[in-house]
Amino acid sequence: MIGQFPACRPRRLRQSAALRRLVSETQLNVAQLVLPLFVRAGRKLHKPIEAMPGVFQLSPDELLREAAQAHSLGVPAVLLFGIPEKKDSTATGAYAHNGIVQQAVRLLRKELPDLLVITDVCLCEYMSHGHCGIVHTDKRGARILNDPTVKLLARAAVSHAEAGADLVAPSDMMDGRVRAIRTALDHAGFTDTPIMSYAAKFASTFYGPFREAAESAPKFGDRRSYQMDAANANEALREVALDIQEGADIVMVKPALACLDILHRVKTTFGYPTAAYSVSGEFSMIKAAAAKGWIDERGVTLESLLAMRRAGADILITYAAVDVARWIKQA
Ligand SMILES: [Zn+2]
Repeated sequence: MIGQFPACRPRRLRQSAALRRLVSETQLNVAQLVLPLFVRAGRKLHKPIEAMPGVFQLSPDELLREAAQAHSLGVPAVLLFGIPEKKDSTATGAYAHNGIVQQAVRLLRKELPDLLVITDVCLCEYMSHGHCGIVHTDKRGARILNDPTVKLLARAAVSHAEAGADLVAPSDMMDGRVRAIRTALDHAGFTDTPIMSYAAKFASTFYGPFREAAESAPKFGDRRSYQMDAANANEALREVALDIQEGADIVMVKPALACLDILHRVKTTFGYPTAAYSVSGEFSMIKAAAAKGWIDERGVTLESLLAMRRAGADILITYAAVDVARWIKQA
């Protein structure tokens, strides 16, 4: 039973900043932030992504600078996406020993040994058709094949671990890929490399700007045969349960702001380390409205991330990580 007015006056605890801080239930901490970065071949390359102001495709030397800056502000981890020079129908660049992500991991590992390097494990950036798996076309049309795709994903994950990745993060939503990756990592001697799985990843329109950033838009069809339907919450819990059974160490919900209910249910159901991916569309909407003077960028960004924390996220993957780290320091 809770108290009743007038004995109970909730406003008593809101009278000063110090009192409000004293009873604050949720905090944003720089140690929770992960900065996604896009790397491609070249030197001194800083190619802007139009729909994501302040986000760039970077050559490895520039990637190192961005990562070092984030790290110096206390951001503990980066999440790497690669844009290969050549794409093909078997995503060769995804698991090439000297692929762009593998090169970037080695560089970061050498220059910033304390920075956690997480690699996105998927095939879409490396496929000529832009899908996350192998495409088979016959009379019935084009289908994404699950099991052969999973084999390539496992190869990619091992190549990332060999390059020195601290964590691998499969984002493809194929069935059984976490087990295949866990098994492949273990066989290759990487029993201590954790898997952060994109466990509940929805086929979301909020990913729009990312496809320009990663140059991974599908050339035909869409991703609805592998990513989840936005209408489904119970299915998201089943997906997370499967990934945990298969060996996921951290589970992710993506997108974040449109899935706060999912984050909450995942955290309360499983109690696992839970990551929220605040996706490109969330970032771009804030940037665009702020550029027009319609909203306060800092306030809306911090409130959005706090809402993800409140819903149950332990880890916040955000393109705004560097600004957020600065804002937290200033607060
Ligand atoms: Zn993909």
